[in-house]
Formats: sequence, structure tokens, C-alpha cells
Amino acid sequence: MAFVPVTDSLGNPVLASNGTQRVACTHLAEWLVAYDALQVARGRGHVTYYQTMGGADASAGTHNCGSAWDMAWMGDAAIMDAREMGAAQWHRIPGRNGWPSSGADHCHGLIRCGDNGCNDYQYAAWLLGYNGLGLNGVGAGDLLPRPNIRTWQQGVTWAHAEIARITGTDTTTEDDMPRLLLDTNGTGRLITAEGTIAVASVADAKAIRRILTAAEWDPNSAPVDKVAASEVDVYDRHVRAARGAAGPATVTANIDYAALAKAVNDDAAKRMEN
Ligand SMILES: [Zn+2]
Repeated sequence: MAFVPVTDSLGNPVLASNGTQRVACTHLAEWLVAYDALQVARGRGHVTYYQTMGGADASAGTHNCGSAWDMAWMGDAAIMDAREMGAAQWHRIPGRNGWPSSGADHCHGLIRCGDNGCNDYQYAAWLLGYNGLGLNGVGAGDLLPRPNIRTWQQGVTWAHAEIARITGTDTTTEDDMPRLLLDTNGTGRLITAEGTIAVASVADAKAIRRILTAAEWDPNSAPVDKVAASEVDVYDRHVRAARGAAGPATVTANIDYAALAKAVNDDAAKRMEN
């Protein structure tokens, strides 16, 4: 598994206090960019990281597989954002709810992206209503509500839609006009009312942007260049794909709690034997 640099939503590298680049699995690195952008859009500022991939003793190995991060608490609403985005995240308060009084105040979170060999028991514990601490993560209860579960990818799409709503960038598209959200590297996502799709090439993103600009052209402003048929093709192809890729924005996970509880208990029994 490859670890990649963590950046903020402006593309700036996120560094540890000793100056080294923080890294995470590719999925968490992508997810954190969207999460940071959402916090900035909500007026909370950028995320302050304490750990991403790493082996701090207090973390019991849960950061060794790249899919977990520690950050400063930004308010419970920021935790709920993470949960809406498909992450399990909790506020660790010293001396409370299973976190030692000698521990640091912070938020611990993880996404279930497949790189979870070191921490999947915590996500499973979260689904069961626990806070991920203690044996198999079920030592103490979860103090915040759990929204409907999204995958981490659905969470990124949800964050982009929230950002567009908050920043008002979707107010000019009340007639279901697709929106293009550009990443810092010139690629992005095309968001339609029916679904979202990644725009993987910079050239495609440029073509789509020109079509959308032309569609919003105000006759009182300077004329835009005539768009090319090939650009219309790129636009149509992406819009069709986005609409075809439509799924419910919120997935109500069909969780078999009895089976989950059994799996946790079986695993606990195994650990006791070791
Ligand atoms: Zn991952």
C-alpha cells in the first residue's frame, strides 16, 4: 500500500511539527482535502493535524495502515461533518469516556476505505454505538449521534455539494444546470442533480468549463468564443455519465447488528487467547 502526502484544501503540504510531510493512504488523503475544504467553507478554518499515518504509542497501532487521522477538536458539528462524510470520528477528552486523563485532547477518526487492517475494529465498534476505545473498541459508548452511513466516496460528493450550497456557488444553477468543481490541479468533479462524476483530465475540465460559461453567458457582457463540437461532446459525455452514475446521496446501510456483534465478540475471544 502506498502512502501519499496529505495536503490542505489549497494544496499546501501538511507537515508534522518536526517538518516532515504527513502522509496517509490515497483514499484518506483525498477525503481530507474535501473535509478541510468543508471546514473552511463553514468558517471554522483549516484542520489542525496531530497525526495521520504514524505509530504514536497512545494510538494502539490504529494509525499504522494509513486510514486514520488525529486532529484538534473544532466543535462537535465538525465531527458530525466527518460522520456525514462516512468517517467514524470521536472527541477524545482526557479523563472521560475511556480516554486516559494523561492523554491529549483531540479528535480521532478513520474512514473505511479498505486500508483498515489496523483499525477496522474501531469502525465496527462505531457502527455498534461505541467509541473505539478499550478492547475491540467497545469499552465505552459513543456520545454523538450516528447519521446514515455513507461510503467515503459518497462522503466526498456530499461535502462538495455542501460546499457549493454554503458558498452559494449553486445559486446560479437553480435550473438543474450541472456544476463543475475544480481541484487545485485542474481536474475536478461534475455535479448534476442526478449524480456526480470525476473529471479526470484537465483538458476535459477546460472543455466543460467553456460550455458552462457559454451557457451562462450574459448578453450584456463580452461575448464568449464559440464552443467547439468536440467540447460539446466532452460535456455531453460527462453529463450522461454523471446522470447514469446516479445513486442515492444517502445510503441507509443494511447492517446486521447481531452478526457484527458476534464478529466483534469472536475477535475479542481470539485476542484474549493470544
Ligand atoms: Zn485507504
